[in-house]
Amino acid sequence: CGIVGYAGNVETACGKPLEVCLQGLERLEYRGYDSAGVALTASGMDKVTVRKKAGRLKNLVEDIECKPMPLATVGIGHTRWATNGEPSDVNAHPHTSMDGKVAIIHNGIIENASQLRLDLQAEGYRFASATDTEVAAKLLGKIVDKIIAEEGKPNLFKAVRRMARMLEGAFTILATDCRQPDIVVGARHDSPLVVGLGDGENFLGSDVAAFVAYTKRAMEVDQDQAVCVSADKVIVTDFDGNVIENPKTYTVDWD
Ligand code: GLU
Repeated sequence: CGIVGYAGNVETACGKPLEVCLQGLERLEYRGYDSAGVALTASGMDKVTVRKKAGRLKNLVEDIECKPMPLATVGIGHTRWATNGEPSDVNAHPHTSMDGKVAIIHNGIIENASQLRLDLQAEGYRFASATDTEVAAKLLGKIVDKIIAEEGKPNLFKAVRRMARMLEGAFTILATDCRQPDIVVGARHDSPLVVGLGDGENFLGSDVAAFVAYTKRAMEVDQDQAVCVSADKVIVTDFDGNVIENPKTYTVDWD
């Protein structure tokens, strides 16, 4: 339901990804939700660090206070409004690939999730949750692995575009991979996604409320486009990888 993402730079980010995610989720509370979660990535991590809880955002915050999360360079955060699978800790986002190296959050409904799930199960993929989102997470993990096998290194941006071409339904998806701890990748179809342009840091949100406390400069991501955001670069492409030159930027007119 609510989505926030942050990409900072290794020297300065530290606790900021978590701060931005939690504060962004708080600002997105008005959309309504039944669960909340975050994923953090930093270089040296063997897996993306995920924390998620059913219920109010407060439950997640208290859980993190009890057991602090590691410092990071990028982060993604989600508030869920359950459509596929009841509200619960396991069904909350982020969802991860089999090896835990890739995590995603998702707004919307993936209409061909049942078929994709059967195909993946037939290949040996196992599922922890009842969500359509986990199907996208397992699929993305599979695509990342295939790209590594073909090209010798991970390419999350390319993998997300490939995944987006295979999904039917509505989605805004953000993804992070612990092997590429400097980027957050997003894609959208029939569901909104906005980039917030910072100074040595960049933001993503399902709407500008997610990051308006940090920057009022925003960039549009159009229908069927993907975006790769790092601390000092934003690249927008279509789902085939063609770069969109000069995406439209604007100033958020808010107090
Ligand atoms: N369909 C997904 C789920 O049920 C995402 C729902 C949402 O937009 O929050 O987990």
